[in-house]
Amino acid sequence: MANPTKSKNSKTEQHVAIAGSSASPTRRRRVRVRRGGLKDMPRMPLDILFEIFSHLEPKDLLNLSRTSEPLRQLLMSRASALLWETSRKNIPGLPDCPSFLSEPEYANLCFTLYCHECLILKGKRLIIRTYWGAGARYCTRCKPVFFYASRSDARTDLQSFNEGCEEKIPDEIIGGPGTVPGPSRMLDRYKPTIEAFMEQWPELIHAEQRTEALKEFRAERDEREKFEQACITWSKSYNVPTGQILTLHLDHGNLRLTLEPRAPTK
Ligand SMILES: [Zn+2]
Repeated sequence: MANPTKSKNSKTEQHVAIAGSSASPTRRRRVRVRRGGLKDMPRMPLDILFEIFSHLEPKDLLNLSRTSEPLRQLLMSRASALLWETSRKNIPGLPDCPSFLSEPEYANLCFTLYCHECLILKGKRLIIRTYWGAGARYCTRCKPVFFYASRSDARTDLQSFNEGCEEKIPDEIIGGPGTVPGPSRMLDRYKPTIEAFMEQWPELIHAEQRTEALKEFRAERDEREKFEQACITWSKSYNVPTGQILTLHLDHGNLRLTLEPRAPTK
């Protein structure tokens, strides 16, 4: 008698959508998994699950978190923070997770390719670029939402803001004069951090508060710049695919693990 689990059209298999984004996925690809093969996984003892998952790479954790609500809840919970960190260390040379990203956000930045705003993966005459210091990836259409077109545009906006303030925000939050052009200089045009600083400025009544806020701004920009440089170096040396992929099956209650060569991806 034919083994139904070996049939290509087996009823023991089903399609499960794996989203391209945890935020609001519009693009989905379909993968084939065994029906019910993973449904009991969230009920397994946490230490066993975490031991298995710790062999996976962050991209695999992301994909797993998108296969079912229980797995999403488990992998996005605080209890999984160490697991993501362990998984990240499976990637040679990957810089540490910066303070302005969570581990899953960091994995999403490194190992997916779509625009974080419109979720597009590719398009005619469309360039999708990773802005490491911003902790995001944007296509050419979405980029102007998050970056001033030029330093001069940023300065005009800052001057206009300062006209309504007794205490002026110094130019340094848009890079200041004399800064050298380079990848990190995109941070001088990154609207979310500049606008967040402007928003809090009127509430800083005392000089010490303003000094402290500027100090924090500098420290964060410094972290973003260093992170950006480290990621650019890492991304040049990182070869996809890496290593093997761990496949998990639950077969009549027995967990089976197989390691297979990772299929090449772009
Ligand atoms: Zn976009």
